[in-house]
Amino acid sequence: MPETTSAAPASGTASTRRRQLIAGNWKMNGTRASGVALAGAVADMARRNAPPCDLVVCPPATILMAVGGRLAGSTVSFGGQDCHAKPDGAHTGDIAAPMLADLGCRYVIVGHSERRADHGESDTAVKAKATAALAAGLTIILCVGETEAQRDGGQATSVVGSQIAGSLPEGAAAENCIVAYEPVWAIGTGRTPTGEEIAAMHGHIRASLRKHVGEAADRMRLLYGGSVKPSNAAEILALDDVDGALVGGASLKAEDFLAIAAAARKP
Ligand code: PEP
Repeated sequence: MPETTSAAPASGTASTRRRQLIAGNWKMNGTRASGVALAGAVADMARRNAPPCDLVVCPPATILMAVGGRLAGSTVSFGGQDCHAKPDGAHTGDIAAPMLADLGCRYVIVGHSERRADHGESDTAVKAKATAALAAGLTIILCVGETEAQRDGGQATSVVGSQIAGSLPEGAAAENCIVAYEPVWAIGTGRTPTGEEIAAMHGHIRASLRKHVGEAADRMRLLYGGSVKPSNAAEILALDDVDGALVGGASLKAEDFLAIAAAARKP
């Protein structure tokens, strides 16, 4: 299987030992027909020209089954965009983590800033969802990131550090937890932090993670997310402590998504 953080060569820096991962967050976009077509294009392009990284797509829940069927036998994994903290019960409209696992999902995004903003999800709520996801055998993509006002106020690192402390679940390990740094002000805006700012924040996140999970932090993958596109992917993916990208808008075009993946660091 391509997806591993443990099949590391004996030499090289910690950064070069972590295989990069490019995840597409399709958000609330796609019908069965368009989603299956997009997934098929991603899988076919990845088969013809294998990128040097792992690939994951996270479609809307309504088309997970159709997309999962199209991706069967491919090198592209899939996941959900959110899950409930309970495994079942009276929660109208929600989706439980075991339901995602039942569909063949390997991943689930938790704590995306759009969920934190649109649904008032606190760190405590995100932690409960993440805990449920791990219990269901899923790998979490745990999102953290500051708002523009928080960055302007000099609070970016403290905000992100407290999101990690508040939402990282017990049992998080390199094999089941990926952290995505997504500055809220960079999502869907075309704006990105500078390379120095991204590298500094990822270094800070890894140092924070060490306090919670010890040496496993050095094997945990940290993704950057926020306006990643083919034109800036190589620069971002070459940065220290950047182990991949969480991609929104550009994941809706197979060519763009694969162009980003092609820019990943060679393992
Ligand atoms: C996202 O919402 O996770 C994201 C990174 O979006 P975009 O790439 O469109 O900025």
